[in-house]
Amino acid sequence: ERETALAEADRPAVSRDGQTVHVMANVGSVEDARTAFGADGSGLIRTEVLFGDRREAPGVDEQVAAYGEIAKALGGRPITIRTWDVGGDKPLAFLPLPAEANPFLGERGLRVFRDRPELFRDQLRAVREIAGETPTRVMFPMVTTLDEVRWAVAELDALGPRPDGLGVGIMVEVPAAALRIASLAAGLDFVSIGTNDLTQYTTAADRGNGAVAQLADGLDPAVLRLIDHVVRNVPAGVAVAVCGDLASDPAAAVLLAALGVRELSAIGPQIPAVKARLRQSDLTTINTAEVLSQPSSAAVRAFSAGW
Ligand code: PEP
Ligand code: MG
Repeated sequence: ERETALAEADRPAVSRDGQTVHVMANVGSVEDARTAFGADGSGLIRTEVLFGDRREAPGVDEQVAAYGEIAKALGGRPITIRTWDVGGDKPLAFLPLPAEANPFLGERGLRVFRDRPELFRDQLRAVREIAGETPTRVMFPMVTTLDEVRWAVAELDALGPRPDGLGVGIMVEVPAAALRIASLAAGLDFVSIGTNDLTQYTTAADRGNGAVAQLADGLDPAVLRLIDHVVRNVPAGVAVAVCGDLASDPAAAVLLAALGVRELSAIGPQIPAVKARLRQSDLTTINTAEVLSQPSSAAVRAFSAGW
């Protein structure tokens, strides 16, 4: 089955009822991109992983070269550059941060750069350059407020007119951002739901702590309801993607598609299986209201045996 899935992986994933779901790859290295067989592009480049071991921040040219290599490895398909998501579980050697009592609730992601925008600006310069060579989107992590979105977009636009075709979006990984998606996403090209952090913040369960791993389950109906809220309330014309680990689980991927998500970004090795499962599915047969009203992730999982 795996071999057929591999052979088929390069084709787009179209469900039985005719919905095309783009399945992209999460990438933290050029190697990840090279081995992401069947990826329709990258829906998430973790730039803080790509350059995580550097003592000195990579310059603009070096970043452009690295993003270009990833794009090439993906056959020129679209790439999504996430700006530095430092803090919490993601240290960056070239950007040491002061110790905090609760790093996951502290200065993380976009929050870090309001006071020190230089590295953020360099990254936006690199994004603007690579966008002239290959289809590119940029997205901002750990957004909570509209003020943050406006700040980030203003920083991008302060560097000059936006390159043609450059898509701009935010990650939705904070429950407050999901709940006010209608205002937050106005004027953007896309939003991408980070289910790893969204689950952690919704269930108040540390994503890296095995003792609460059962609580931090992306199939918790509370998390699914937030995802459903985003799909239903995002402004018209703004694409909704999911790039958290939930998208790498074939059964969950089908549910996300049934909720209306048309782009998933999964870990490379899972792409053939996710695409294969989507092709076998008929999204119209999934009673999403019933799924969302289940009492637990276990109940959702039991339900998923039927699709
Ligand atoms: C997420 O939070 O779901 C996500 C995709 O980002 P990361 O795992 O890098 O925090
Ligand atoms: Mg995250």
